[in-house]
Amino acid sequence: MLDLDVRTLFIVSISVTIVLGFLLLFAWYQNRETRALGWWAVGHFVMCVGCALLGLRGAIPDVVSIDIANAMILIAAGIGWGGARLFDDRSVPLSGVLAGAILWLLACQLPVLDQSINARIMLSSVIIAVYTIGAGCEVWRGRNSEPLMSRWPLSATLFVHGFVYALRIWLVFAFPLATGASFFSAAWFSIIGLESLLYLIVSSFMILAMAKERSELVHKTNAMLDPLTNIPNRRAFLDAAMRRMRQRSRNPEPVTALLFDLDYFKSINDRFGHHIGDEVLRIFTSKAASEFRSTDLMGRLGGEEFGALLFGAGEGTAVSTAERIRRALMVATAEIEGHHVDATVSVGVAVLASDMAEDVVELLTRADSALYLAKERGRNRVEVAGKIHAPAPPLEEARAAVAAIAALRVVNPGAAPKLQAAANEDELQWLDARPARTAAK
Ligand code: GH3
Ligand code: MG
Ligand code: MG
Repeated sequence: MLDLDVRTLFIVSISVTIVLGFLLLFAWYQNRETRALGWWAVGHFVMCVGCALLGLRGAIPDVVSIDIANAMILIAAGIGWGGARLFDDRSVPLSGVLAGAILWLLACQLPVLDQSINARIMLSSVIIAVYTIGAGCEVWRGRNSEPLMSRWPLSATLFVHGFVYALRIWLVFAFPLATGASFFSAAWFSIIGLESLLYLIVSSFMILAMAKERSELVHKTNAMLDPLTNIPNRRAFLDAAMRRMRQRSRNPEPVTALLFDLDYFKSINDRFGHHIGDEVLRIFTSKAASEFRSTDLMGRLGGEEFGALLFGAGEGTAVSTAERIRRALMVATAEIEGHHVDATVSVGVAVLASDMAEDVVELLTRADSALYLAKERGRNRVEVAGKIHAPAPPLEEARAAVAAIAALRVVNPGAAPKLQAAANEDELQWLDARPARTAAK
């Protein structure tokens, strides 16, 4: 066996655990939102007290140096498991944290445990292995909802340490301790002690790295995402657009810019309240996002203005996508919280053929001119830059959009005339013609 002075190793481990506990406490103080850091710090301190009492075997009553000391070490393991749950905002049942220690204290009343250090080592090893592997599973579970790189090494460290503790059960069988012997006299203690010391150092640094990675991710996300709609803000959209346009210069493909501006949005706020306005923005975002492909870019450029870049899409695809979004918005906002909001959107489209070069700003400026035309020509319509007039939506499609709104209004016939206000020119023509056609029959 490794020629290490077991008592020195033990004292070094306790000192290092105290230092690491203070480091975790300091990290928690700097970043109070990550309460798990505070838990892990407390776990380290409880562990130190437990280990110190264990080390005083012979100098203090056995009930303290064995029963209580191990119970504290098991509570520390429970706190470590609880911290891993808390890190991902899962509940931490106190019964779960204390279960190991309670089981231990109850088992200590049994003569077999009272008389055999081997039985005691086995039971405490099983409990610590369960808590440690459990903590590893908790850290691992959160990887999809929050993909932090440090989760991998931390859960691996926890799994390895858990298995090393499970290995102690085999060691007790292979190299049992003499009755009445101290834990320190085990031939394999120096190896296990060294592993525990390395585990404490590595896991604490990984915990610190994981907490730091989270706060960096939160700051980055806050800086790039619009909090209301959860899509990229203007800066993030333009950054991504410029990057993609640079890539396009190497692999030429058509690209289309779409600029959306909700119509009379100020009036929606004024008539129904700001919270309904916010809801309209969220509805628009979800309807638009469901029409785009994963390769398209979308962002909130400000207020009630949104932009999108469709790569590999020509005019036909872009206009039909914009038309579907325009109609989906009308249907989805026909009624919000009992109000007939009837939000509409104007869209400007600018197409850049695969053999043409233009930067993002020029492309968006052309889309903006088309948007201006859409506003000028009555709103709730799609206009393409450089075209005299955008193709009118087919009559059947206009009819379907209006019918969908009408279906939503079945319960409230009084609202039907407002449909006309929500429809565009082509739909208005159809609606205007309807009474005439009916009368003519
Ligand atoms: P137009 O059809 O010409 O685009 O008219 P508009 O009323 O939509 O345009 P205007 O620029 O006059 O008004 C935009 C309004 O959008 C004013 C502002 O209060 C509102 N707005 C901007 N951001 C938000 C937001 O986050 N939530 C809500 N509810 N309203 C917003
Ligand atoms: Mg605007
Ligand atoms: Mg507007």
